[in-house]
Amino acid sequence: MKSQGPQGNYYKNALGYFYDYFLSFNYCIMAVEMKDLVDLCKARWFVYPWSEIYGWLANSWDYGPYGALLKENIKNLWIKEFVQKRPDMVLLDSAILMNPQVWVASGHVGGFSDPLIDDKNTKQRFRADKLLEGLIEDLKKDKSDVFAYLTEKYGVNNLVPESWSLEKQTEVMRGEKLNNPDTKTPWDWSDAKKFNLMFRTSQWVTEDSSATLYLRPETAQGIFVDFANILRTSRKKVPFWVAQVGKAFRNEITPWNFIFRTREFEQMEIEYFCEPWKDLETHATWKADCMKFLTKTLGLDEANLRLRDHEPDELSHYSNATTDIEYKYPFGWWELRWVADRTDFDLKAHMSESKQDLSYFDPVNNRKFIPYVIEPSIGLTRLLLCTLIDAYTIDGEWEETRTYLKLDPKIAPIKVGVLPVVKKIGEDAKIVFDILSDEFVCEYDEVGSIGKRYARFDEIGTPFCVTIDSNNFESGNVTVRYRDSMEQEVVPLIELVDFLKSKM
Ligand code: ATP
Repeated sequence: MKSQGPQGNYYKNALGYFYDYFLSFNYCIMAVEMKDLVDLCKARWFVYPWSEIYGWLANSWDYGPYGALLKENIKNLWIKEFVQKRPDMVLLDSAILMNPQVWVASGHVGGFSDPLIDDKNTKQRFRADKLLEGLIEDLKKDKSDVFAYLTEKYGVNNLVPESWSLEKQTEVMRGEKLNNPDTKTPWDWSDAKKFNLMFRTSQWVTEDSSATLYLRPETAQGIFVDFANILRTSRKKVPFWVAQVGKAFRNEITPWNFIFRTREFEQMEIEYFCEPWKDLETHATWKADCMKFLTKTLGLDEANLRLRDHEPDELSHYSNATTDIEYKYPFGWWELRWVADRTDFDLKAHMSESKQDLSYFDPVNNRKFIPYVIEPSIGLTRLLLCTLIDAYTIDGEWEETRTYLKLDPKIAPIKVGVLPVVKKIGEDAKIVFDILSDEFVCEYDEVGSIGKRYARFDEIGTPFCVTIDSNNFESGNVTVRYRDSMEQEVVPLIELVDFLKSKM
């Protein structure tokens, strides 16, 4: 786990958001509010509360028909960009349940934990480091030198609470009389304690004994453990990299903000194995490649993204360089992904635990070394949230506003809506659907007024609607209507597939 950096102040972020909201309010374009986005996602089949008929399990979400397609599209673009188009990349699908020794070697059994603190009055539990990050931001409003203030009073040597001892975190929280952030009332803070984030399960070994297994908290370790196998079977030479997409599980104590931080989520991780002396230059290249994927391939707005290099005292003990790519969510700037130089820490740890040789022999230069690793890691579900926030658009004049998702056609769940103007030409429209659905994910809709149908397709981000009316169709034409401009264009049916392909 890493620090969120000093930006982690819920209140300040909320105020900042409203300030931005009013600045951007110019009759036409309004910033998205989380509540509206969540409502749209639930109403329009993107994301549902999980097992809702049983009263929901807090913070668990199912991806509905459009959410599932959107997630697949993002994942497939990532695989295309980082596996298909790169000669030195291989894809892996490792198991969720692994030998428990993996997590001992990686340090997760001993150290994958968050500092938690309880308010004994309300029995609520919080992340101490996150509350302290908020405190630091609040102190900055009144004090010119917060570092000097905290150093003098408590002897801290940085402004990264995650790196302070548990005793220090407790002392500062009590000393600064930090209120319970939910109730805003005075606290009775317990001592901060470490809480391991791994989910445990049991595997029966004999009838009356079982072994503890863990649901993997990250996909990365599967790649390290398979390193020797991949090297041997793929005949790759360093540098090469391994990509993996899959589920990860963390017993997060503060799951938060819709699908931003959940207990079950999906990650897309790459481990790039390079020569030890090339790690920093490779790290810089990956930062740029990751930004390019987010902006050019997925079409996220550059203004909503920023790079934040970790300060030296914030770096994990094994890392030479780490950069967070942060996104401007409606609730503030928070991490979207990270690019970390993990050095040879993981391979060495698995060598020592497994007693296997995971070093690499370079046949060209006749030398042996343990590769360094650059890890660009991103949460697929968190990225999906960013694409929805970015795409959420309200425009038009006062009463005539319309809400739609301006999703890039490459990731839109439904690419083409097929609409007969009236039901009675449905048979003709179904022919058009059959032709198009061979190439694109399409949806057929003949129910309701044409205006309402357009509005529904706009709301789920469908970039094109194809409308069939009898006059046009008799002369071999259909009408293509664009989501963003709402303009319409007559296109010969015979050219329709190529025409739409050229627009995607
Ligand atoms: P955070 O502190 O924001 O929860 P982290 O720093 O612990 O994240 P990493 O361990 O670096 O995250 O995981 C890599 C990526 O996986 C993150 O950049 C994020 O996109 C995603 N991720 C991590 N935890 C979660 C979660 N609980 N829910 C959704 N996505 C997550």
